Amino acid sequence: MGPPGAGKGTQAKKLVERFGMVHLSSGDILRTERASGSLLGRKLAQYMDAGKLVPDDIVVSVMAKAMTENSGEAGLLLDGFPRTVPQAEALDAQLARAGKPLDAVVVMTAEPDMIVRRITGRRSCPACGRVYHVEFMPPRKAGECDACGGPLVQRSDDAEAVVRDRLATYNRQTAPVVDYYRRRSGLKRIEVDGGRDADDVLAQLTKAFESFGASSR
Ligand code: AMP
Repeated sequence: MGPPGAGKGTQAKKLVERFGMVHLSSGDILRTERASGSLLGRKLAQYMDAGKLVPDDIVVSVMAKAMTENSGEAGLLLDGFPRTVPQAEALDAQLARAGKPLDAVVVMTAEPDMIVRRITGRRSCPACGRVYHVEFMPPRKAGECDACGGPLVQRSDDAEAVVRDRLATYNRQTAPVVDYYRRRSGLKRIEVDGGRDADDVLAQLTKAFESFGASSR
C-alpha cells in the first residue's frame, strides 16, 4: 500500500521475479478492462481518467475474479488493492472463505513533491509494458521504447492536476486502510520510505519478505 508514485508497481515487479508470487495490480487489471472497450471498460474510463476511485463493488468483483483465477503456489502480491475500508473488509471475507488469511502488509511512504515529480515524468510503452521516467530513467532515444521501439505514452491520469487529486483521494480514503491493518494484531507489517533509492528500497523489502517466510525462486 502507499500513495501513487511511492514505487509500489516498480518494487512489486522486482519482488515477484525473486519470490515467484503472482503480481495482481488493480490499476493494471482495470486499465486492461478499460482498453478492451467493453461496457464495463467505458464505465471505468469515467473514473480512472479523472483520477477518481472506481466504485467499491466493481473493484471488489474484478479483483475477486483475478484472485480466484491466479491463486499460485507462491501466493499473491496485491498492488493497489484494497484502497478503501469496505474493499479491505471484502478482501478479508474472501480470504477467510478461501482459508488463506493475509500474510503481511507493506506500506510505502513518499513526500507529495517527490510523488508529483515522479508521476508526471512517468512514460510507458503500451506494446510491452516497460516503464520509463523522463528524468530518472530516460529511454536511449526520447519517446521510444528501448526494448521494442514502440512509442512511449503518458497515462492520462498522470497529469499534475490529476495527480494532486489522486493524492487527496489517497489521504481521504486509503490512509484509513493503513490504520485498519495497523490495528490488527498478529499481522506482519513493514513500512518503508519509498522516496529512497529504488535499489535500497528493494534490499529492505527483500529482507522483510524473507523474514515473513517468503522463499526465493
Ligand atoms: P493505479 O495504477 O494503482 O494508480 O490505479 C489507477 C486508477 O485505477 C486509479 O486512479 C483508480 O481510478 C483505479 N483504481 C485502481 N485500483 C483501485 C482500487 N483498489 N479502488 C478503486 N479504484 C482503483
